[in-house]
Amino acid sequence: MSDQKTAIITGASGGIGTAIAIKLNSLGYNLALNYNNNITALSDVVAGFSNKEPKTILVKADISDYNQASELITKTLDEFGRIDLLVNNAGITRDRLLSMMSDDDFNSVISINLNGTFNCTRHVCKKMIKQKSGRIINISSVVGLMGNIGQVNYSASKAGVIGLTKSTAKELARKNITCNAIAPGFIDTHMTDAMSEEAKNEVIKNIPLKRLGSPEDVAELVAFLASDQASYITGQVISVDGGLYI
Ligand code: NAP
Repeated sequence: MSDQKTAIITGASGGIGTAIAIKLNSLGYNLALNYNNNITALSDVVAGFSNKEPKTILVKADISDYNQASELITKTLDEFGRIDLLVNNAGITRDRLLSMMSDDDFNSVISINLNGTFNCTRHVCKKMIKQKSGRIINISSVVGLMGNIGQVNYSASKAGVIGLTKSTAKELARKNITCNAIAPGFIDTHMTDAMSEEAKNEVIKNIPLKRLGSPEDVAELVAFLASDQASYITGQVISVDGGLYI
């Protein structure tokens, strides 16, 4: 067992999760990196870590499944004995206009983005309550604040994450656990690759800083919210969106 800080990142095999993993590794965190399908991408990321000192484990789990989320936490505790930071980052989109959206389109997005965040938070908070310390950072979205055409499922899931964040913050503050949400705007990852160039250009017109964000823009805020300097910040939703939500 080590007394280094330990973080769990869900969806670490994707664009933003990878940037968070690289940042936290550079800061010396032991990491439990969760993926669902893409172990190849994640193994490559870990092989390229600059800091070889901390330990990293890769854990396959579909976080929408309560038991698999539980196993993610158990495996982390077996390896590291403590959890200082949980980053609920895994998420999907299944965009369709409301009138054509199927039950499955709606439920799968809610189940991964919102239920997945609940599943991991509930399992982790038990350990953090015992430790009397912890940080929880939920990756929401600007779309959870302002809505978006074709994303009733996604915006509902991300608005749900904001409610979950605020209630968790109130409930766990007395145990010295903070919980905050990050609301990224349009970030250049696999998720936004699905947009046509035309759609991206249309979005950029509405972003005051006139560009998509990078995964590193989000990772820097995660690092700050996890740091000692952020110990008095809880229940907040902080946008990383180039000013889109102004
Ligand atoms: P991404 O590149 O598509 O990555 C998504 C990640 O989620 C992958 O690691 C994927 O794992 C994981 N995942 C999906 N379903 C899962 C499940 N059932 N269990 C566990 N992991 C699962 O997306 P991204 O852009 O990095 O997005 C990361 C987070 O930021 C998401 O919550 C997203 O909603 C949010 N966000 C993104 C943007 C943006 O513009 N990109 C904007 C606002 C918010 P596998 O690949 O291994 O299956």
